[in-house]
Amino acid sequence: MHVFDKNGTELSAECSVDEEDGVYGLILESWGPAHRNKDYNIALDCIIERLINSDVDNVVVYLASSTARKHMPSIAERKIHPGEYFPLVGNSPRDIRQEMCSYQAHFSRTGRKEVPSGNRTKRIMINVPKVNSGEFWEPIIHGESLVLLQPTDDESILNIRVSRLIKKPLSEPTGYKIPGAVERLQKVYIRDPAVKAWVLQQSKGVCENCGEKAPFYLNDGSPYLEVHHVIPLSSAGADTTSNCVALCPNCHRALHYSQNAKELIEMLYINIDRLQK
Ligand SMILES: [Zn+2]
Ligand SMILES: [Zn+2]
Repeated sequence: MHVFDKNGTELSAECSVDEEDGVYGLILESWGPAHRNKDYNIALDCIIERLINSDVDNVVVYLASSTARKHMPSIAERKIHPGEYFPLVGNSPRDIRQEMCSYQAHFSRTGRKEVPSGNRTKRIMINVPKVNSGEFWEPIIHGESLVLLQPTDDESILNIRVSRLIKKPLSEPTGYKIPGAVERLQKVYIRDPAVKAWVLQQSKGVCENCGEKAPFYLNDGSPYLEVHHVIPLSSAGADTTSNCVALCPNCHRALHYSQNAKELIEMLYINIDRLQK
């Protein structure tokens, strides 16, 4: 597994999430020959930043290089910081990473002379107290970008992801020629056709929000408007004329998604006598 940076690019920084020597955590591999894992520091910055953003205040950091493990089989002995925890608060991720690295360097200089120093001390294990599942570490390693790119069958999750992705620079995605599909059991409300017909009838083809004419006519010659439940049926709203309005498609979307939706709804109650809260 590799750590990904903010833009969703795979870093040259190998890692794994596992139990090792009795402790569960993220193991970040050390720099190796020929620039192997050369993005160690960048990866550690990303990990620290994501831990902070996930409200993790304290971690425990152990040296986990093979030489260190050979010379000090007890993982407790390989904790690099003097306190019980290594705090992730009060500094930028980069400063915190440098502090972590200076503890590592200090450990290799003074801790145990027989343990070789240098890059070999860089393989570390980061333990988050009470965390022993890979699920927690997934977004920490891959970052938000990769999680945001996961396809989903949940429309509200889809829209959250879209609203975050839209703010990032995106190259044209390949998408899915054959999108995955799931079957779902969904609650569907049984609607009264007379209520819908009556509301459309009395609108006379004019949107009850903006007062504009319907944007087009249907095959049968009737003006196209949408009937909206002011209090949604899913929020225990009634399927009655006192909870229904005829809207043009733009106004309908605005009532669902606009930043002014609350004000628009209040205006409907003021302007349309038959509506009742
Ligand atoms: Zn309208
Ligand atoms: Zn609606």
